[in-house]
Amino acid sequence: MKTFKALVLVVEDDPAIRRFLSIVLAGQQYRVLEAATKEAGIRTFGLEPPDAVILDLGLPDGDGMELLRDLRRLSAVPILIVSARGQERGKIEALDAGADDYLTKPFGAGELLARLRAALRRAASARQPAGTRLAVGALGVDLESRAVTVAGKPVKLTPHEYRLLVVLMRNAGKVLTHQQLLKYVWGTTHVHETHYVRVYMNQLRKKLEADPSRPEYIMTETGVGYRIKPPDDS
Ligand code: CA
Repeated sequence: MKTFKALVLVVEDDPAIRRFLSIVLAGQQYRVLEAATKEAGIRTFGLEPPDAVILDLGLPDGDGMELLRDLRRLSAVPILIVSARGQERGKIEALDAGADDYLTKPFGAGELLARLRAALRRAASARQPAGTRLAVGALGVDLESRAVTVAGKPVKLTPHEYRLLVVLMRNAGKVLTHQQLLKYVWGTTHVHETHYVRVYMNQLRKKLEADPSRPEYIMTETGVGYRIKPPDDS
């Protein structure tokens, strides 16, 4: 019997892109379910709940955003958005509505697979009991003592810098929008103070990165937000 890594639902109306996604995923031992419309997407999801969803935002019978919200009401399954270049607003809206990540068309097979692996890994670790240590590459955080280290050397962070780092590390590989970071670190009353994020991110980079102008960990997603990039996740 053939064993599969995970079941992936692809919701995409463009037949060429859908075929490309299916071939790439099947080539890596993922089992793939395909849907070309929002309706087919929700029905397929209901029949056989997948381990991850790849969702195009522009569908012929409705907005992919509606499907995203419907799926989020049903499940915490990782959802990767596929969108056309330059639609920053759509990406931000999707991430704020609970999408795990996004890919901008055109994208390569390697990028797709890396993002999918990262999303499945996060979903699996969310099911594990919470540990007291976080690690991404050489960055380490002990959640009990609140000690932060880079390659074993202690780094002193302010309380807000610490919270920002912990939120990013708990979501390693995932883009967090400015709104999400503000909400998690400063609370819902501060969601308009986007300059906070920029200022604190610069401070964090100065303390954590070997060269803050060419960060290895804290990556800017232009116009969208930030993500911590695990070093093995190219
Ligand atoms: Ca489309």
